[in-house]
Amino acid sequence: MGSWIIIREARLFDGREKVIENAVIVIDPSGYIRDVGSEGSVEYPRVENIIEINARGLTALPGLIDAHMHLTGFRTGDVIKEPLLTPYETLVARCVVDLESLINAGFTTVVDAGSVIALGLKQAVEEGSIKGPRIIAAGLPISQTFGHGDTHYLPIEYVDYRTTKLNDPIKSLICDGVDECRKATRYALRMGSDFIKIFTTGGVLSQRDRPEYTQFTLDEIKAIVYEAEAAGRFVHAHAEGSKGIINALEGGVKVIAHADMIDEDGITLALEKNAVIVPTLAVSEHIINYGAELGLPSWAIEKENELYKHHVDNVRRAYREGVKIATGTDFWGGVKAFRHGDNALEIVLFVEKLGMTPKEAIKSATTIASEVAGLKDIGAIEKGRKADLILIEGNPLDNIKLILSKEKVKLVMKNGKILKNGIEQ
Ligand SMILES: [Zn+2]
Repeated sequence: MGSWIIIREARLFDGREKVIENAVIVIDPSGYIRDVGSEGSVEYPRVENIIEINARGLTALPGLIDAHMHLTGFRTGDVIKEPLLTPYETLVARCVVDLESLINAGFTTVVDAGSVIALGLKQAVEEGSIKGPRIIAAGLPISQTFGHGDTHYLPIEYVDYRTTKLNDPIKSLICDGVDECRKATRYALRMGSDFIKIFTTGGVLSQRDRPEYTQFTLDEIKAIVYEAEAAGRFVHAHAEGSKGIINALEGGVKVIAHADMIDEDGITLALEKNAVIVPTLAVSEHIINYGAELGLPSWAIEKENELYKHHVDNVRRAYREGVKIATGTDFWGGVKAFRHGDNALEIVLFVEKLGMTPKEAIKSATTIASEVAGLKDIGAIEKGRKADLILIEGNPLDNIKLILSKEKVKLVMKNGKILKNGIEQ
């Protein structure tokens, strides 16, 4: 059991609407927020041994959430050589380092949209063996044959987890037809998936397909959604082309990742279904800016250059029309680009490219992103929620770029436990 913790004199943004100057946050020993409000309106616990944190000059925000990323341990853009030539244990060790970087950058939850390593490290984080954000993991993503998750340049038995001899962290389950889709979904659940990840279109990092190609039939998507929901989960789809986005939404998919070519019909349907879009602008920026230098295949860089401007315009329209937009970087690790720890870039891009206010962008990274994680008790600094919060030097509501600096993230708390504390008292 921990102690009571009281944070005083913070500027606070609750992750929804409310900004409180001179705020007090009371955290109980079980890691929940017992009370929050302006000084004088909050009841202090009548116990001894209270840890008090003076947050003068700091802004309290809910812990940040990356709602679409991958823990792979890759360190370059060469997604072909990395899994083939790097020992698996090396990849795992690098992911452990990446998780610590994420904590230092203020991320208390990550949604891993496909990686076997994430499934294993989730337990290591939960039991406290390693330091890291809460991991919500898809585990094995589900792809059709010749789908975005079917790495075409490898023999197909190397791609499917059930037959592979390769230790690639981003293996898939390959299935075609309603029955195989059901079985693959059940298999992913058997492996421990928190949600089901599928591909309903082609993409940038798959050589022989294109973002506008549709993948899986509506019946296949519905079968996967049925099986996921039967087990209390939901489906998160990689969907870039307009038709594949509509298929996903009609099939009952709750989270649309990328959404590059979302059109008016897709926007209407996303609103009707209360779906969330995770546009993953950060990875596109990095592919364009650093892809060639980092050894990403040239066919991928060409596709990205073609797409990006339309991608931003389309997502901006969806945002203006009221679709919920959450932050997700699609970063997979790396040294110069795609690096875990730099994930707040997506928040800044929401301000710069989508025209959000800093408050709205932080809301996208907290309360809205918590929906993509499927969690109701995180994402906001509110009474009764888990105490996942960060203290940042200065006022990111005025200058969103402050959120990019790990040095300015002074304190990081997850489940009421302080995982980083750089405050001089
Ligand atoms: Zn992804």
